Amino acid sequence: MNVLELDDVSVTYSIASGEVPAVRGVSLSLAAGEALGVAGESGSGKSTLAMALLRLLPRDARVGGRILLDGEDVLAMKWGRLRAVRWAGASIVFQGAQHGLNPVRRIEEQIAEPLLVHGLAGPEEARKRVAGLLEQVGLPAWRARSYPHELSGGQRQRIMIAMALACAPHLIIADEPTTALDVMVQAQVLKLIKQLIAEHEISLIMISHDLSVLADMCDRLAVMYAGRLVENGPSHEVFHDARHPYSRALAAAFPTVGDPASRLAPKGLGGDPPDPMQLPTGCSFHPRCPVALEECASTEVVLWPAGGTGPADSHTAACVHVRPGAEPVKETS
Ligand code: ADP
Ligand code: MG
Repeated sequence: MNVLELDDVSVTYSIASGEVPAVRGVSLSLAAGEALGVAGESGSGKSTLAMALLRLLPRDARVGGRILLDGEDVLAMKWGRLRAVRWAGASIVFQGAQHGLNPVRRIEEQIAEPLLVHGLAGPEEARKRVAGLLEQVGLPAWRARSYPHELSGGQRQRIMIAMALACAPHLIIADEPTTALDVMVQAQVLKLIKQLIAEHEISLIMISHDLSVLADMCDRLAVMYAGRLVENGPSHEVFHDARHPYSRALAAAFPTVGDPASRLAPKGLGGDPPDPMQLPTGCSFHPRCPVALEECASTEVVLWPAGGTGPADSHTAACVHVRPGAEPVKETS
């Protein structure tokens, strides 16, 4: 059974000025032990999608479609069940979460809390588990007595990972876990995550705007644009042989892991992603697309089989140039 199964998931925020369709019709699945990367520029709906998975969205957000976690319908879960699943089943590591540590409580109290709350350990056992978790994330046991301000950004992010591991989840959702860190520390933390998920057979959803980070960490890549999935396939294929022009632009923008120069706007891609309240007609990407055809302003694109080495549905892309019968396209830049 798949760890996660999304079927036509959409999220719409209701704000004073109207409706914000932040995620639109996303379907994907995650097999046990698999690492899936979700890429896309800022505003493409990645965090909204991640929060929807564990129903962590604010109340003004409406979720449609179906989300199955280990076959269980997340949107239908009762509150108590949801709370249990959030720690023991699936954990989430947020972007900049290290700033969310409580400044006046020692590290050990904060890591032990979910263990105690969920009755997974008594105080003595929890203390031992904390020491073990710190060791797993490469920190000495005495750090348990530290306060968050006594730690560096990288160390705080390790603490967040230890907290995510505390209840032994089988799925971790990591939303830009290293974006706030400098390049060296970023590489170390990524290596740590990679090693831990392999060791503990944890499935991973990792979100980043940096395709090279994801390609290095993940088995599969899903690329989002304006709330939609525009490409989904094996990492190496999407990174080295992207079939959607947006994925190609992202791959070109982030040629090497953690390159600070490429944290800026994707190279060779002019303009900004659209405002979800004013989406272009047809393919949302067409106004910025280097290979757009006239019909792209009106044609509804869907994910079509995009070739590659696997079965037809293992690599898909939502571009008219991939549509069955289309002529192959060459970019001229
Ligand atoms: P990403 O994580 O890819 O940067 P987000 O999921 O944060 O994207 O945002 C997707 C879209 O939803 C953006 O247009 C953003 O402005 C909008 N959005 C995010 N959170 C809210 C909210 N609480 N209320 C209204 N709009 C929101
Ligand atoms: Mg985000």
